[in-house]
Amino acid sequence: MMDSQKTSEEGTVSKGIGVSPGIAIGPAYLYARVSFDVEAQAVDPEKIEHEKQRFEDAVRKAERDLHKIIAVTREKLGEDSATIFEAQLMMLRDQAMYPEVIAFIESKGINAGYAVQSVMSKHRQVMEASDSEYLRERSNDLLDIQDRIIRHLRRGRILSAVDENSIVIAENLTAADIILFSRRGILGCAMDFGGPTSHVSIMARALGVPAIVSTHNATSKVSTGDLVVVDGIRGELIVNPDEDTLAAYRVKQERYARLQQQDRQLMDLPSETLDGHSIELQANLELREEIPLLEENGAKGIGLFRTEMLLLMEGRALVTEEEQALEYSKVIDAVTPHTTTFRVLDLGGDKLLPMGHREHNPFLGWRGIRIMLDKPELLVPQLKAILRASAKGPTRILLPMVTQISEVRRFKEVWADTMDTLTREGVPFDSDIPVGVMVEVPSVALQARLFAEEVDFFSIGTNDLTQYVLAVDRGNDMVAEIYDELHPAVLQLIRMTCDAAHAVGIPVSLCGELATNLRAVPVLLGLGVDTLSASPVYLPAIKRVIRAMKRTEGEGLAERALVSSDPEEFRGFMDRWLEEHACGVSFFLEGPAD
Ligand code: PEP
Ligand code: MG
Repeated sequence: MMDSQKTSEEGTVSKGIGVSPGIAIGPAYLYARVSFDVEAQAVDPEKIEHEKQRFEDAVRKAERDLHKIIAVTREKLGEDSATIFEAQLMMLRDQAMYPEVIAFIESKGINAGYAVQSVMSKHRQVMEASDSEYLRERSNDLLDIQDRIIRHLRRGRILSAVDENSIVIAENLTAADIILFSRRGILGCAMDFGGPTSHVSIMARALGVPAIVSTHNATSKVSTGDLVVVDGIRGELIVNPDEDTLAAYRVKQERYARLQQQDRQLMDLPSETLDGHSIELQANLELREEIPLLEENGAKGIGLFRTEMLLLMEGRALVTEEEQALEYSKVIDAVTPHTTTFRVLDLGGDKLLPMGHREHNPFLGWRGIRIMLDKPELLVPQLKAILRASAKGPTRILLPMVTQISEVRRFKEVWADTMDTLTREGVPFDSDIPVGVMVEVPSVALQARLFAEEVDFFSIGTNDLTQYVLAVDRGNDMVAEIYDELHPAVLQLIRMTCDAAHAVGIPVSLCGELATNLRAVPVLLGLGVDTLSASPVYLPAIKRVIRAMKRTEGEGLAERALVSSDPEEFRGFMDRWLEEHACGVSFFLEGPAD
């Protein structure tokens, strides 16, 4: 589909978020989702039954499509990945949606296509207006279903076709699109919208297709046939690069491919420094579909399972104890013999507040454990579900947004009561689940000695810790420049946390994005962090750094970082250090393309 209106600019760079690392170079294919705008048409009363039957037939055909997609997904990515489409399959016959469409056709005497469009658009608008990024992204699944049914009503073919070996540029893609495109060997993709946790991002990672989301303007800068580069590591799309840039990217692509080869060999090697210190590598996860990535990237368990996403899967904030227990059991089953760390629901801040509650300053407001202690109707079912699932294998529990020791004590009372209830009910569970706190508010780091006496482990959340130490909103572009996770003040608190933990023999994990900053890895080891937990695709590069250093070197680097007053200078210093010690990983450092 050639866009003749557009003159593509040479060497244009669009910045987005890299969600699946890798470099793709090739011709662009501008993919426009063909959405139909169905007009309302009155249907004669005697033809209403026929119209309802047409709707039923279209739903059945959509089911057949999805069964096909599920089969391809199972074959390519395994059972767990197929659950996204199984969920879509369920949505087709959703208790609310399906009867609503039928009722719409009947009550308004209107054509099926219009009824589908009206009912589904209404549900989508609710999801799109939600405060939850997760729900907004899931509305895409609903659009996919809507298009699928309407196409069948119009007897249209489902077109998820693109040119072979091209780079797909689209406003938005669905997980189904990317699965079908992958059969045509697409090289990469870039989207105007979407976030790292969208299903399409998860699929792209699982399929190993370099991908960028949230470019805002990729579709307006690219025409079909343009030569483009997708840099899924830095999150950049380069349109019609000049010769030098192209040559540099070809070299990068080759180096990255070599690195991946070596990563495969690295997978079974221990995560250990040259002087024999083991550093555990675990995964941050939000959805069960990501579990296959654990083994592929050498993760030894889950260091942070953000349960917010899981609880919102169903499109409602509150999932029953039963549903949660089933979901958590499946996760533990797949991760055993390694440990799964479930974080208690961390609502508030930039995440959804199910009660429709609004605040002027949500990051300093009703958030995380504060909400959960106030709302036992949320906390207790989640605790029961985690406990019930714990019978399946090693489990830990982690408390978000803790600021006071009294919160830990109050939590423990609820925890003990919940265990008593389950014992009375005769439900088996692990009565020895380690309880940890997120160290993400300065007060916890400053009082780490006190907290260390009361909990079984610490997990440092540098995303929030940085925002609270430096008073910088983690999501505000205007102050992004001063959001410095390697700031000596942040590092000082990490050190205090590690020292306090080790004084009483409890372990410290770090699960903020800082763990994926390779410049930080040697410093964190030097400060005493025992475990790093990160999005699984980054773990091989982290392991490469760990295996190339001595912990004693890390201690020296940490000393330097703690007194650094010039972040630029320190970054440059660490870049040179990494180049000398762990060549190859400089790939993952942000900055101008080299
Ligand atoms: C953190 O704050 O560093 C963290 C890991 O938690 P979240 O990003 O979910 O707030
Ligand atoms: Mg946090």
